[in-house]
Order: sequence, then C-alpha cells, then structure tokens
Amino acid sequence: MVISDMHTHTRYSSDSKALMEDYCKKALVCGVNIICFTDHADYNEKDSGYMYYDADAFFREFNEIKEKYRGRIELLSGIEFSEPHLYGEKLEQLSKFPYDFILGSIHFFYNDMFPSEMLKNGLPAELIFEHYWEELLKMVDYGCFDCVAHLDFPKRYYNKLIYSEEKLSQILDIIIKKEICLEINTSSLRKRIGSAMPDRDMLSLYKALGGKYVTIGSDAHSAGELAADFAYARELAESLKLDAVIFRQRSLTHF
Ligand SMILES: [Zn+2]
Ligand SMILES: [Zn+2]
Repeated sequence: MVISDMHTHTRYSSDSKALMEDYCKKALVCGVNIICFTDHADYNEKDSGYMYYDADAFFREFNEIKEKYRGRIELLSGIEFSEPHLYGEKLEQLSKFPYDFILGSIHFFYNDMFPSEMLKNGLPAELIFEHYWEELLKMVDYGCFDCVAHLDFPKRYYNKLIYSEEKLSQILDIIIKKEICLEINTSSLRKRIGSAMPDRDMLSLYKALGGKYVTIGSDAHSAGELAADFAYARELAESLKLDAVIFRQRSLTHF
C-alpha cells in the first residue's frame, strides 16, 4: 500500500517551522512513501503570511532534499494558494515554477476575515457559511489550480457545518466539469471536530454527481502530524469508491 500525504507545510509557510528533512525522517519511520510540500502562498494583506512565501528558496532546498532521499521517499513540490481568483497574476507567476501540485483554498472571506476572527467577533455560523460558499463558488469558477483544499473549511473553527445541497451541487458540478480534484483533509480530526473535511455526506454527493478522485492530505504543520488519521481518510475514500490519487507535474496520476 502506498501512503501519500498531499498537503504538508514547512518553514516556507509563515505558520510552520518544520524542515523538509524532518518530514522525510518521520516518513521513513512511519512508512509514508510520498510527501507533497504545499506551503502557503498568501497575498491578502491582512494575512500573517502575506508575501512570506519564497519560491526560489523553496526550490533550492526542495531539490537538494529530493535528491538526498531519492529511492526512499518521493517528494513532490506544491503550494496551497489562498483565494486564487483574487490574485490571478500572482498565481500565474508562481505557476511558472515546476510545481507538481497546486491546492486552491479559501482562507479569508467576508470582509477579509479568517474564520477564527469571525468566531471571536461573534458572527453567526449561518452568515459565515453563506459567504464562504459564495467565495468558494467564485474560486472554482476561476480554476487555474489542481485541487480544492478543505472544502468545508469554516467547520474547523465553528465545529458546525451549514450548506444547502443545491449550492454544494453547483460547486461540485463545476469541480467535476473542470477536472479539479477534491481533497480529503484530516486536520479537522486533530481538532476533535469528528469528521474529515469534507465529511462523508459531502463526499457521497461528489460521487453521486460523477466525482471520481480525491487526494488525501493531513495539512501537517509539523513532522509529527505527517499522514495523521490517514486510515480514517482511506476508509472514507474506499467505502465511497473514490480513487485516492497524487499529482506529478500538475497531472493527476495513480500510484
Ligand atoms: Zn488551508
Ligand atoms: Zn494547509
């Protein structure tokens, strides 16, 4: 069995101190075969990671570590790009680098706030989710990335999930039509949310609408979180007959 973690953060993200090599050492111990480093590329001025990402520095270290671990672990290069539809020019510039995989994420929305800030300000979940789905719709409409990260993201902060099947179907239809992949993100389980992002019902709808593929990502910010709760995510994918895939050179690939 091949284990691939398609969503991890290193010190090239403002919110992680992890070294690529820490992940490699951990992978050798726990039997992970493939790691994709997907550091944050954030261009919202309110984001603490604003302009933090340095692709040149990333690739210098990545190429060195990839070579060092060749034959033992396969390393893939990626980015988690926040709100791609709002920073198209930046995305285009970064896309010129030889990435294997680009995740698209909504982190900031509704007056440029992050969900934890919304929660602190007492904004109701109904309002937040309504704005979130609208923003996500704009993101998938725009495209130019490979996979949607943490589809029901506000859940990780609100510990609640609110959506209409109609709106979600609209979003999933576009994802499927544009051949954008969907991620099963296990980080919510570490926050004791009780389900992955997205959950079984949402993944069932994706499957029913014609979705076939998922990537599995821990969203690790330290090596200790590598491939966390992957047995759960794999069971979820298998039980719904969704194929867990990876990306190489921006192309969906089977193991
Ligand atoms: Zn994210
Ligand atoms: Zn992430």
